[in-house]
Amino acid sequence: MKLLAALGLLSVLGNCLWQTANAAPVRQPEPLLLVIESEGENAPEPVLQLQTDGGVIGIDMDEYLSCVVLSELPASFALETMKAQTVAARTYTCRAIMHGKHTDADLCDDPACCQAFHTKDKLRERLGEAFDAAWEKATTAVSETEDTILCSGGEPIEAVYYSCSGGRSEDAVAVWGGDVPYLRSVESPGEEFAPRFESEVSVSFSAFCEALRRASDAVSFSVLPQDWIGKSTFTRGGAVETIRLGGAEFRGTQVRKIFSLPSAKFTVSVRGDAVLFSCRGYGHGVGMSQYGAEAMARAGKDWREILEHYYTGVEIRGSED
Ligand SMILES: [Zn+2]
Repeated sequence: MKLLAALGLLSVLGNCLWQTANAAPVRQPEPLLLVIESEGENAPEPVLQLQTDGGVIGIDMDEYLSCVVLSELPASFALETMKAQTVAARTYTCRAIMHGKHTDADLCDDPACCQAFHTKDKLRERLGEAFDAAWEKATTAVSETEDTILCSGGEPIEAVYYSCSGGRSEDAVAVWGGDVPYLRSVESPGEEFAPRFESEVSVSFSAFCEALRRASDAVSFSVLPQDWIGKSTFTRGGAVETIRLGGAEFRGTQVRKIFSLPSAKFTVSVRGDAVLFSCRGYGHGVGMSQYGAEAMARAGKDWREILEHYYTGVEIRGSED
């Protein structure tokens, strides 16, 4: 009998757990081994527990991954991009299980917290006539990368990703403050076809001042509006690291959050009676760029090359490794 992909996944996860001397996973390996030992024709279908708006649902790992791929990526994206996305999503899932990210479930369906997820029925509704071909492609991406995850030091990596970098990805340390050796800034060319490669956010003077006053006691808007905007420093990825606004210093990530900007890669100017943020990219910029991955696939690169490009020095491991 063909080993169920999720059992293989748990086997990979089990290996990772055993080989990680310093990891302190919340979930112990014993139950995983029990699942693997129960393998056979009548083995129970392995399920993930997923927190949704309608409560916790159980879902087969392969179906979950196919749904994530079509929830995260446009259905028109190349098979190689979908394979890279599958391996990143499977790795992310493994790590979430290991570290017990949620207490009542393995993951949730909120892309701002875990990974985007729509049910198969919802995807059918959203994609209409394109659904059958898209589902076929996503399930192929899942089956042809069966059991494969990304590891570093014997442990599933933090396989983070986002829509579009705006030309170069970010060092994890620049965004989240902790250095992660495989999450390093790399070039991400060819993303210009992304709908949100460049965008503008306009904020009225009053909303701008009020939001910054709420964020910092140190701001002052007594000078002319064009003098509200001071010097910036930049990360290796090209995002704003720090910027002076209203005489106070803010981090670029903080400004992104305050004004709901698509990314921290922005310039600021005064236009008329509003402050204009001109932005590049969409998302936090750490790890794999989905549009950058698609650009690589269109240039003939395969899913392994895509993953090796965005996750520096990681091992691509299947259950046989
Ligand atoms: Zn979550």
